[in-house]
Amino acid sequence: MFDKILIANRGEIALRVLRAAKELGIATVAVHSTADSDAMHVRLADESVCIGPPAARDSYLNVPALLAACEITGADAIHPGYGFLSENARFADILAEHNIAFIGPKAEHIRIMGDKIEAKRTALRLGIPCVPGSEGGVTEDAEALKIAADIGYPVLVKAAAGGGGRGMKVARSAEDLPDALATARSEAKAAFGDDAVYLEKYLEKPRHIEIQVLGDGQGGAVHLGERDCSLQRRHQKVWEESPSPALNDRQRAEIGETVAKAMRELGYVGAGTIEFLYEDGRFYFIEMNTRIQVEHPVTEMITGIDLVNEQIKIAAGSPLSFAQEDVVFTGHAIECRINAEHPATFRPSPGKISYYHPPGGLGVRVDSAVYQGYTIPPHYDSLVGKLIVHGRTRTEALMRLRRALDEFIVDGIDTTIPLFRTLVRNADIQNGQYDIHWLEKFLADGGMD
Ligand code: ADP
Repeated sequence: MFDKILIANRGEIALRVLRAAKELGIATVAVHSTADSDAMHVRLADESVCIGPPAARDSYLNVPALLAACEITGADAIHPGYGFLSENARFADILAEHNIAFIGPKAEHIRIMGDKIEAKRTALRLGIPCVPGSEGGVTEDAEALKIAADIGYPVLVKAAAGGGGRGMKVARSAEDLPDALATARSEAKAAFGDDAVYLEKYLEKPRHIEIQVLGDGQGGAVHLGERDCSLQRRHQKVWEESPSPALNDRQRAEIGETVAKAMRELGYVGAGTIEFLYEDGRFYFIEMNTRIQVEHPVTEMITGIDLVNEQIKIAAGSPLSFAQEDVVFTGHAIECRINAEHPATFRPSPGKISYYHPPGGLGVRVDSAVYQGYTIPPHYDSLVGKLIVHGRTRTEALMRLRRALDEFIVDGIDTTIPLFRTLVRNADIQNGQYDIHWLEKFLADGGMD
């Protein structure tokens, strides 16, 4: 087992990793920018190292500074959290060259899944169902027109290097397609320095359902059920829950086993998420995230499995300590991502938290790194914290969420808590009837005005 883990991240996920390390009796090193000297992860870690000025590229993405911090403190492993360097294959390679363990998958798998065309090709080979589309990248308009005619309109042009919903354009007819191709290519070039694009059938009303997996690279891989993340704004998840209101036990076991088998075949190491769109009873792979995700607590609440603890043990060489039959799903969990943003306009609202009172009680979990008197710096993402509730049934979870949101007080800044207070009382949400466009439509129709 590791003696000391350096956490190459900030905010709530840095704290989350720190907690798992402490429970394993492992010493912790926090790193921080000059803007984060007062951050909670710095206060709670055994040691801390300042790694640069506020801009992420000079601090949390500064690889030489991270290596120096390992050298100074004697850390033998790095947990990258999510975002920043978590899906950077080159970083995983560099750590290997320096004999520092990367708490994450093999560089090779990060690389494959980071290229969406390659990821899709791999998924197909492993028997994972994919959205119908081009077999690889498309370069010529004539070729694209032919493929689109085959799969049928509407089609979606997507960037191979895509992320955050950028470089994606819908074409509803052959007339639209050349423009969609040109726009997606230039957006992809500007955002990722790579203009490779591919085509997919555009699904009109899908849900976003993802499967959590854990693999040990020693022949073992299990699935931990699904998360329904259909409530999104600008392709960003806002509310996640498990089980999905759309799936039954048979569907869950079926897609879960397909994915777990694929991960065993791949020899996948660590935690990962296979993301699908789900429409009319069918799953369509869109991408795989090779890291711990923001919404992982939803899975922890219904399985009782500490995902970060498992990540650390697997990275240290342990085989999975449980089999698929040992995974028992209990009750229902919902997570709300609370951002420092205006609840209707979504304007970022960094600043000082003058009063803070988180909710508590049975089945309520708050993963956050803020505290009363803390000033949220303007340099990073706007996540204030995650409120996760667990209940024996979905109805119990919804009522628990309602009362927890009503208890939650964050003064001094705007937060999205009022948005969730509205959503939890909405009939469509209560009935589980929502797809990936529901929230945008609700907001456009003045749901928060
Ligand atoms: P990114 O990496 O940019 O987030 P994804 O492939 O994960 O790209 O897709 C992001 C979101 O875009 C999905 O959650 C879904 O809302 C939408 N999307 C992606 N592919 C399709 C498709 N074929 N049909 C309809 N919507 C899609």
